[in-house]
Amino acid sequence: MKKLEQLYEGKAKKVFATDTPQLLIVDYKDDATAFNGEKKGTIAGKGVINNRVTNHLMKLLESKGIPTHFVEEISERETVVKRVKIILLEVIVRNIAAGSLSKRLGIPEGTKLASTVLEYCYKDDALGDPIVNDYHIVALNLATKAELEKIADYSFKINQILSDYLKDLGIELIDFKLEFGRTSDGTIVLADEISPDTCRFWDSKTGEKLDKDRFRRDMGGVEDAYKEILKRLLGE
Ligand code: UDP
Repeated sequence: MKKLEQLYEGKAKKVFATDTPQLLIVDYKDDATAFNGEKKGTIAGKGVINNRVTNHLMKLLESKGIPTHFVEEISERETVVKRVKIILLEVIVRNIAAGSLSKRLGIPEGTKLASTVLEYCYKDDALGDPIVNDYHIVALNLATKAELEKIADYSFKINQILSDYLKDLGIELIDFKLEFGRTSDGTIVLADEISPDTCRFWDSKTGEKLDKDRFRRDMGGVEDAYKEILKRLLGE
């Protein structure tokens, strides 16, 4: 596999073309941003950890029947993925109230939700990723009704698989963000990353935050939290 020209540079990853048109290489950076890019910083070692954690969880999900874009990890920061057209939605799954939900609805962080909440945000930095519902999504041609049903179904299944898996490692899955894409034949697959950047992980016993909230909220111990997640998931 040859790494060719850079196609895109995002906040946390670079994407490169390869000599196979249907495959790309994702390269994870240590750069961290929050609040729609307003807060910027670096988390040493984050790229390596997010690459490895994402791939570990993508493999777990594949083994349980969820189609993903994952192909092969080729270095500690680089992974080959299927080329997809990203659906312009952030799919947020919530088990426990935190972050923007707590703020918007006045529910204290840590409150268990009576049932799982699914939210969609329109991926548009200029608009600040506004929340949208099923009707907006279909009306704006972001996804069809059938695609949205599939995305919701996968998202709930992913929540079950990840929550069960993490629970055994002493981690509570509070909430997380997913992105989906369409492959060249239109198949919906899970894309992007699943990492401490995109999930809230709380230690089951102590409630300690083991995720990007430590960076967002200037809590310190950011690198150690990411390392702890790597250790619990991959044993290193
Ligand atoms: N999230 C993310 N990217 C975003 C917004 C949210 O990965 O652009 C994740 C975030 O890490 C958390 C979940 O989605 O696990 C819910 O985030 P929330 O809506 O509470 O927003 P926040 O409080 O992070 O602004």
